[in-house]
Amino acid sequence: MSLPPLLIATTSAHKFTEIAAFLDGIPWQLKSLRDFPRIDAPEENGDSFEANAIIKARSYGDRFGVACVADDSGLVVDALNGAPGIYSARYAGEVATDHENNEKLLAALESVPSEKRTARFVCCCALLIPRTDSDVDAHVETGTVDGHIAFETSGAHGFGYDPLFIPNGHDKSFGELGPEIKSTISHRAQAFRKLRAFLARTHLPDFRAEGA
Ligand code: IMP
Repeated sequence: MSLPPLLIATTSAHKFTEIAAFLDGIPWQLKSLRDFPRIDAPEENGDSFEANAIIKARSYGDRFGVACVADDSGLVVDALNGAPGIYSARYAGEVATDHENNEKLLAALESVPSEKRTARFVCCCALLIPRTDSDVDAHVETGTVDGHIAFETSGAHGFGYDPLFIPNGHDKSFGELGPEIKSTISHRAQAFRKLRAFLARTHLPDFRAEGA
């Protein structure tokens, strides 16, 4: 019997490989957006990580008629009332580079002492499964990693705010710690491991969203 397809809503080969590793062993055939005709990305106009993950999963799942997983993540800084949050990618402007975002974050926290520089990365991943009765069930998992924001960037690994984020229990940034350690403790790792456990125990025809 062939396994049901599960679309991971990304065109990035790197992200697909990372997520496929987190979901290793589930009885689904993993596909990326590269396996489907190219379509425009939906507008991520939700007001939370969860809402944006669902918008993406629903959009691609509906369009291609397959079960779909999409994620949305970002950095939440306590001293900035949760900013940059869902705007993490475009904190310093619509087409901001990682360097510009990091510079803006350092400037915003210039007068904030070390004990008040607490922050966390958050990842929400949404699973949408189209049902034969044309309804769609959604399941969302969230992963977080707590830490604090350094006073200067360090390390060349990773992307985004990795050079500024020092996870609790470590004294180096994600940029210095590298992918092996990051992939065991990151927000994405935690969210997708929870999703893996859910998928491993869920029999597709029995799937119903909580509260449905
Ligand atoms: P996305 O939703 O995974 O595309 O993440 C949105 C933005 O959040 C990225 O462009 C980064 O600025 C930031 N971000 C999310 N995850 C990470 C991470 O693991 N390290 C550093 N920055 C991240």
